[in-house]
Amino acid sequence: MPLRRSSFPTCPCCDPAQAGRREVLAAGLGLLGAAALPRRAEAVALPPLRRLKVQRAFTEDSFDGVYFREGRYDREALHKLDWVLRDLSASEVTPMDPRLFDVLHAVASRLDALDEAFVISSGYRTPEHNASNAMRSRRVSTVSLHMSGMAADFRLQGRDSFGVARTAAQMQVGGVGFYRREGFVHLDCGPPRRW
Ligand SMILES: [Zn+2]
Repeated sequence: MPLRRSSFPTCPCCDPAQAGRREVLAAGLGLLGAAALPRRAEAVALPPLRRLKVQRAFTEDSFDGVYFREGRYDREALHKLDWVLRDLSASEVTPMDPRLFDVLHAVASRLDALDEAFVISSGYRTPEHNASNAMRSRRVSTVSLHMSGMAADFRLQGRDSFGVARTAAQMQVGGVGFYRREGFVHLDCGPPRRW
């Protein structure tokens, strides 16, 4: 069945207050990533070669390849991923936090789904785009990690979204949201939490 834009509404996504993390909210978005990393690093051992398969819903954009090798992120691969996850509404690209790709890689690896594509409905959102969404819907957080390039909403090809979200939550690799009605998953590289 073809993907329809209306089937991917925006999510409350990664509002730390909603996830019961008031201390994170107080710390501010700028500290989120630093606070999150040690815990995730302990939880999941990442391999020296990391790859991803990503497609953008509604466009022909995709990435299928290695983004980390020999101890470093591949700059060209990151640029391609940044493009795939750009803000479509604003036609704006931002450097995504590469730890987001590590989270996606870790979850796909755990699910033995590295050859399946993450079909991205929302990646980076400009503050203006996010604020516009938040004004239209109380479900959209005004402090979404999408604005920091740290979050993605997606479906994983051939996989049940509930199962994907449950696995990701068990892995404690970041923020995990499951949107039952819309059938998509939110993942971010912020502190481990779920909703
Ligand atoms: Zn989201």
